[in-house]
Amino acid sequence: MTKQGKKVLVVEDEESFITALQVGLTREGFEVVVVDDGAKALDEFNRFDPDIVLLDLMLPNRSGIDICKDIRTVSKTPVIMVTAKSEEIDTVIGLEIGADDYIPKPYRLHELIARMRAQLRRANWTDEPAERSPQEVVQIGEITIDPNRHEVFKGDSQIKLPLKEFELLLLLMRNAGQVLTRGILIDHIWGIEYYGDMKTLDVHIRRIRSKIEEDPSKPKQILTIRGLGYKYADS
Ligand code: CA
Repeated sequence: MTKQGKKVLVVEDEESFITALQVGLTREGFEVVVVDDGAKALDEFNRFDPDIVLLDLMLPNRSGIDICKDIRTVSKTPVIMVTAKSEEIDTVIGLEIGADDYIPKPYRLHELIARMRAQLRRANWTDEPAERSPQEVVQIGEITIDPNRHEVFKGDSQIKLPLKEFELLLLLMRNAGQVLTRGILIDHIWGIEYYGDMKTLDVHIRRIRSKIEEDPSKPKQILTIRGLGYKYADS
């Protein structure tokens, strides 16, 4: 994927952040449009048709939460919520508004860009499923997962997994070595329309661990990446 020309809509009302983002993101090859008024965000989103949105939480006239919901009624475009305090993130995540990722202020620009690229990559493979080879058998260490036969093996013994656990394990193993955010996992396994309990994901992870890990309390295959999501160890 080329970063050149990817369009970013920045919804932000703080001058200092606007300037830093315009300079930093333009330098990285992004095309940047800024909206500083919450009430104008959706119109600008529709006009500019961005590849990704950076959305501040506290804005004049309409909150980031409402804007995120507005965007989700019309589009699956990745949205990264930006919040002033890290404790606000918990509140926002709790609301399950359909954002793809969350980052607290102040953030480092390179971290923000890394998160943006991760979301853009994901959006890319969601749009182009033909690029994936969905029937490929994946084997990492002792665990083998075969999507054709819908079978999982640990060494020689077969492990029975219900559908969602199977899909979740397959997604993690196909992306071994990469952190998949909670948002990504939930969107892919339960669908973008999922507004249920976020704990569902953790419950499924726990069940899979109990079946594939030597010691589920000290997982070595499905790793928890605090504040972000999960990663399947690539060796
Ligand atoms: Ca603000």
